[in-house]
Amino acid sequence: MRRFLLLVLAALACGNEPDPRLAFATSDDGGFERLGPPAPRSWRASFKERPQGFDAYVRSDPVRARPGEILALLPVGPFTEKQRAILDRTAEFAALWFDLPVRTLEAAELPEKGWHRERSWGRQYQTGWFLDRLLPDRRPKEAVCTFAVTMADLYPDDDWNYVFGEASLTDRVGVWSFARYFPAFWGRKEAEDSGVQALRRALQVVVHEMGHAFGIEHCLKYACTMNGSNSLEESDTQPLRLCPPCLRKLQWNRGFDVVERYERLAAFHRANGLLPEAEWVGKRLERIRTAK
Ligand SMILES: [Zn+2]
Ligand SMILES: [Zn+2]
Repeated sequence: MRRFLLLVLAALACGNEPDPRLAFATSDDGGFERLGPPAPRSWRASFKERPQGFDAYVRSDPVRARPGEILALLPVGPFTEKQRAILDRTAEFAALWFDLPVRTLEAAELPEKGWHRERSWGRQYQTGWFLDRLLPDRRPKEAVCTFAVTMADLYPDDDWNYVFGEASLTDRVGVWSFARYFPAFWGRKEAEDSGVQALRRALQVVVHEMGHAFGIEHCLKYACTMNGSNSLEESDTQPLRLCPPCLRKLQWNRGFDVVERYERLAAFHRANGLLPEAEWVGKRLERIRTAK
């Protein structure tokens, strides 16, 4: 009996031993860019947020996926073939980022009557319709969070000119417009890298917002996907990667192997022309593998 107990204790002790690769991957070894003072009109200059440490994150009892749960994306309104491909790549990427299946639901139509207004650049739809009318009916019960994605431009109420998206963390639903990610919206011609740029923007917003659904607050310390942003210009300067403290939170939440996750992300980056991202992850993997 005693021998059995000792074996159990040994097994528990092994289980608790920290994984050195994980400890390295989630520590600052100098391979990450620390944020300087906030630029005028940037998110950090506009909102005085408090940093969320790892212990505070764990204590906040964040949302965690149970076995069989998924993330869901709901396309709403028309998409061109190119735009739909970006949505499909985004679903694929979010599945790798969170190590959780992402289901793209059957597309929904935009409302024909009400919930919109006409602007000089076209029709805009009110986010309230997505959050209060559409999503409660369409959200799968096994979804940790369900995000509607549309190519229509959005506004929250008449006081606002437009909005990129809006989410309800308590209901775990959100809506985002990809319309402004494409040069055509701004009356500009497609450039050679427009597709990659629109893809990068879509990936960034979806994993950032889904990160909030997992209780991760804005990152104030490093250049990181979880940085807040006040504009497209500002979010375009932010990298498509998690800094050490944010990666530690997500790894605690999801329990993935950091190296396997990076390998899958690197393969995605390479396959989709995200070359600076592929290069960064490749270097990161090298450092983790050779860390003593
Ligand atoms: Zn945010
Ligand atoms: Zn971060």
